[in-house]
Amino acid sequence: MIVSEWCMFCGECAGLCPRNLIEVRELSLNFNEENCKECNLCVNSCPVNALKHE
Ligand code: SF4
Ligand code: SF4
Repeated sequence: MIVSEWCMFCGECAGLCPRNLIEVRELSLNFNEENCKECNLCVNSCPVNALKHE
């Protein structure tokens, strides 16, 4: 997953991941990508379109 500079670390995407794979730290976003099912819920939830699949 690629996180662009637009990310404001609001946590919206993390709250929606059905597998709880996204962790928001102060100024970083960590993805447990191994278990990602590519449902795109996180990508579509971002208010500033900051997420893209690699
Ligand atoms: S929803 Fe978007 S802006 Fe908010 S933490 Fe996720 S990637 Fe960043
Ligand atoms: S694509 Fe789906 S499973 Fe993967 S991190 Fe985003 S919300 Fe979670």
